[in-house]
Amino acid sequence: MNIPSIAVHGGSGTITSSIEDPKNKKNYLDALQEALEAGFSLLKNDGTALESVMKSVTILEDCELFNAGKGSVFTSKGDHEMDAAVMDGKNLNAGAVAGIKGIKNPVLFAEDIMKNTPFVFLAGNEAMEYARRQEYEILPDSYFFTQLRYDQWTSLRDSGEVKLDHSSDNELKFGTVGAVAVDSEGNLAAATSTGGMTNKAWGRVGDSPLIGAGTYANNKTCAISCTGHGELFIRGVVAYDVSCRMEYGGMSLEQATNEAIFTRLKNLGGQGGLIAVDAQGNISLPFNTEGMYRGMKNNRQTLTKIMH
Ligand code: ASP
Repeated sequence: MNIPSIAVHGGSGTITSSIEDPKNKKNYLDALQEALEAGFSLLKNDGTALESVMKSVTILEDCELFNAGKGSVFTSKGDHEMDAAVMDGKNLNAGAVAGIKGIKNPVLFAEDIMKNTPFVFLAGNEAMEYARRQEYEILPDSYFFTQLRYDQWTSLRDSGEVKLDHSSDNELKFGTVGAVAVDSEGNLAAATSTGGMTNKAWGRVGDSPLIGAGTYANNKTCAISCTGHGELFIRGVVAYDVSCRMEYGGMSLEQATNEAIFTRLKNLGGQGGLIAVDAQGNISLPFNTEGMYRGMKNNRQTLTKIMH
């Protein structure tokens, strides 16, 4: 038994030369470490898995290095539309938001929907109407602005292309954030938050807020948060696929996550990775890209890494 355990990610993709710069690399690793330690410290002090993933993801949303909350990528209109989801594996409760603007921590909004409404998923203008009624502070675009994301967007703006914030043919950094945890009672939780893809248009929503695609948690099996090309994760229903392989196929966490990333996602032509924990505190962090910002911590081991 390795419980309690936690894993976090800050996106999968190509390692750009700017990240090879030791100072940049350290900034990313420090941010992951902070999110990891904060989440784990809650777990060590009888916090729940849900509290732990919420804590880790809000820290990463507040860090402008990542494509979630502050630092989110630009849409084709030059603003920021964010998606997030949270799931509690104890009772399969879930909350999600898509296409929201001006909210500092989209993952807290998702948790609010899970806890305080009869719904699971709110999107777009009507979700914003709910936020206003609940008196959320709506921040100006300037809060989310980073020069790097702006430059990424202006290089794509007129091409009509849509890109991951970490596509290989651009000097682009990693992004989407997520956390998965199991607490000392064996309860699991997962949360994911993202600005999506640079230059996205027409209300494009990726896998991150979709329960079963980019985010999933079930005490019987595992908690999963995905990162990568969202359309392929949606088509592969990747997070739930891992859970099903365990529940119906009897696979271990390691086998199930490897199959999902290296067979199912790969056969669809998808690139990305995921973080996963099971009720025993086993952790698996597979990806089929060059790198993935990731960290894990339990009673035996602490690790933060970018490359293989
Ligand atoms: N999965 C996210 C999306 O497609 C992007 C990412 O992981 O960076 O919206």
